[in-house]
Amino acid sequence: MQYVDEFRDPELAKTLLSHIRHKVSAIAKASERPLQLMEVCGGHTHAIYKFGIDQLLPPEIEFVHGPGCPVCVLPMGRIDGCIEIAERPEVIFCTYGDAMRVPGRNGSLLDAKRRGADVRIVYSPLDTLTFAEQNPDKQVVFFGLGFETTMPSTALTLQQAKRRGLTNFSIFCQHITIIPTLRSLLEQPDVRIDGFLAPGHVSMVIGTTPYGFIAEDFHKPLVVTGFEPLDILQALAMLVDQIHDGRCEVENQYKRIVSQQGNALARKALDEVFELKESSEWRGLGSIAGSGVQLTPAYREFDAELRFNTQEHQVADDPQARCGDVLTGRCKPNDCPLFGTRCTPQNAFGALMVSSEGACAAYYQYRRGLA
Ligand code: SF4
Repeated sequence: MQYVDEFRDPELAKTLLSHIRHKVSAIAKASERPLQLMEVCGGHTHAIYKFGIDQLLPPEIEFVHGPGCPVCVLPMGRIDGCIEIAERPEVIFCTYGDAMRVPGRNGSLLDAKRRGADVRIVYSPLDTLTFAEQNPDKQVVFFGLGFETTMPSTALTLQQAKRRGLTNFSIFCQHITIIPTLRSLLEQPDVRIDGFLAPGHVSMVIGTTPYGFIAEDFHKPLVVTGFEPLDILQALAMLVDQIHDGRCEVENQYKRIVSQQGNALARKALDEVFELKESSEWRGLGSIAGSGVQLTPAYREFDAELRFNTQEHQVADDPQARCGDVLTGRCKPNDCPLFGTRCTPQNAFGALMVSSEGACAAYYQYRRGLA
């Protein structure tokens, strides 16, 4: 099968695994304690557990799961803000499916839909413009959610909305950016990470240059990687090579998609529509400076929170839930006392259990009972 089998070739996988084992056995650090390698992106977490990559690796390599799942880091208060708007009778509220079951203080968007709110799942934000044109007596609101991966499609939708002169369309902006969060993670003294697998999709937009500080200021190796099993194994081989050689560099395994400078057209659209916010709250991680975006003055007329004058909802995380510790590599999902009991995919307490990229969902699906 073209472009699938090529990235799942068992012989190549064996060669890479043997290279990784050989290098790891020669790394002195790994004999004292396992190397902790953070896969920043939840897409990588799922690929690692789905294909059993963790079970093929030597025990001296341990994965820690990073904060690169936008649904997992969605604070309860933001879900409450969405529901406040969605429950207004004049509103059609549109969202990606992943956000439907994320719990807020008063339930999820799915619960709001069950109570009668007009909440719709969309696959492209452009669909929401069609809803706005077909329903001139309604206010159509799109939940703009995600890292730089999904930001360009929201930006293009807003540019279209402006061009079409739509006055009944707006967005609830929860777009966030990964770079300040990685910096804040590295600044925490008790977080111990030996190297990073960096997200392929985000990097497609931003390029590899923004990761430079991780190698230069924090002396950690980083490899941008794709999502197929051989992508991940090759990136791991590159990481252990760096650790073995004592190098700390930003390397790019995903050259077929990611360039050094990223996608210039997408970045131009982002610069026109979004600007950095002073700070943003992340579920389990607290407030992080410069980690989120808001609409630029030219697009602020499309800001749903301004249009509907919503309240700021601040909700403290439950002290028993260890979502923040999982997102910073301080513990594994099955160390959380709620894992598999009060928190399951069918009845989730934390967002890491409902998101298709969530580490807890990956453990529940692929490793329950094994760890
Ligand atoms: S099991 Fe649930 S509550 Fe615990 S860390 Fe995972 S998502 Fe959070």
